[in-house]
Amino acid sequence: MNKKKLLDQIAREIAKTNGGPYGKGLKPVPGEGNPEAQIMFIGEGPGFYENQQGRPFVGVSGRLLRKSIVESGWKEREVFITNIVKFRPPENRDPTPAEIEFFKPFLDRQIEIINPKVIVTLGRFSMYKFLGEGVSISKVHGQPRKIDKYTIFPMFHPAAALRATGMMNQFLEDFKKLRELVNKKEVLPKPNTEQLNLI
Ligand code: URA
Repeated sequence: MNKKKLLDQIAREIAKTNGGPYGKGLKPVPGEGNPEAQIMFIGEGPGFYENQQGRPFVGVSGRLLRKSIVESGWKEREVFITNIVKFRPPENRDPTPAEIEFFKPFLDRQIEIINPKVIVTLGRFSMYKFLGEGVSISKVHGQPRKIDKYTIFPMFHPAAALRATGMMNQFLEDFKKLRELVNKKEVLPKPNTEQLNLI
């Protein structure tokens, strides 16, 4: 099976959980983008607009993320965007450890299939997955580190950037660093047209 079919299969399995720990009536937000993406963005969980559209990062913080991606010279369809949890937590609260654990196998399989060169974690929860819970995002943001076969690049969540000017400056600064990292040839070979046609 090709990567797109495998990712579609995961999306169907996520839908079949009927909201998983959150229960019925929610739209699945499995993630979207290029199955051959070299950069994968992982946020926290869908919010109001994401739940309406079944797409990740389509609200206010999504606008900042997607604008930053495009301004970095990438097309939205060249990357893959997803979240730690695949349905909207009630009242946008933080996901619990049990909820994160419930969706972990889906996310792990998405990562394994896409096999990105760089994983950008957006916010604490996504960062904890790779760096562990003792880590402070203020200390490690913008610093890539190799974990297994992946380069992990922790960033502040765009919603945090929108709350404070200082954070916004750091968010934009980190995006510049990300662009430099990704543009190094060994990290990101340009996707070929065949790959782009997959989506
Ligand atoms: N915040 C997230 O973490 N993910 C989304 O998809 C939207 C907002």
